[in-house]
Amino acid sequence: MARPDEAQRLHDLSEAELAVEIQLRSHGELGLIREIGPRKLFPMIRQVARKFAARRIFLVGEAAHVMPPLGAQGLNLSLRDAAFAVESIAASRGDPGSALAQKEYDELRRSDVMFRIAAIDAMNRSLLADILPFAGARAAAMAAISAVPALRQFAMKRGLGESGTLPAFMTN
Ligand SMILES: Cc1cc2nc3c(=O)[nH]c(=O)nc-3n(C[C@H](O)[C@H](O)[C@H](O)COP(=O)(O)OP(=O)(O)OC[C@H]3O[C@@H](n4cnc5c(N)ncnc54)[C@H](O)[C@@H]3O)c2cc1C
Repeated sequence: MARPDEAQRLHDLSEAELAVEIQLRSHGELGLIREIGPRKLFPMIRQVARKFAARRIFLVGEAAHVMPPLGAQGLNLSLRDAAFAVESIAASRGDPGSALAQKEYDELRRSDVMFRIAAIDAMNRSLLADILPFAGARAAAMAAISAVPALRQFAMKRGLGESGTLPAFMTN
């Protein structure tokens, strides 16, 4: 991710120049960078559907919500969407698209999604705002998570969404 002007600069580089940039930023972890494919710029935005289920349609994954790829949340949220949709449908007894099943699914997902999006948004803004106290607080939090195993485990569980209410078949 980069600020818009920097993203445009990277986008407009020649293939060799961009390969050098990626090489430097990836510290060689990905081997020698070459043969770069087509490029596209994507705005780092957040979007949430007004309803997660309506008119016999359940929205899961990025059809329901998009957010900047920070904190490894998108896929985990999407898996929980799918699991909760299955659970709501299974509990609907005969009418998988019933208004009740859709309302239940919408309510079950909204709090989880909104909480994650707010957290990612705050993280994104703190990264963009070059404000020293933010950077210091973030660095201190990362150092503590990396140094204290119990804290690391707690953060991982929160990140994976293991600590909230989960559908039965995600906990077995
Ligand atoms: C750079 C980046 C890093 C990320 N890192 C992480 C991470 O570390 N951890 C994490 O949990 N999440 C991460 N995510 C988020 C995660 O990738 C997404 O949340 C997840 O892939 C969403 O799944 P999805 O099935 O909703 O959408 P997608 O994975 O985008 O799947 C949609 C599929 O539909 C296909 N499609 C689109 N239009 C049509 C059409 N008209 N007809 C047929 N097929 C179509 C597409 O080709 C695609 O295969 C990251 C995202 C990005 C961009």
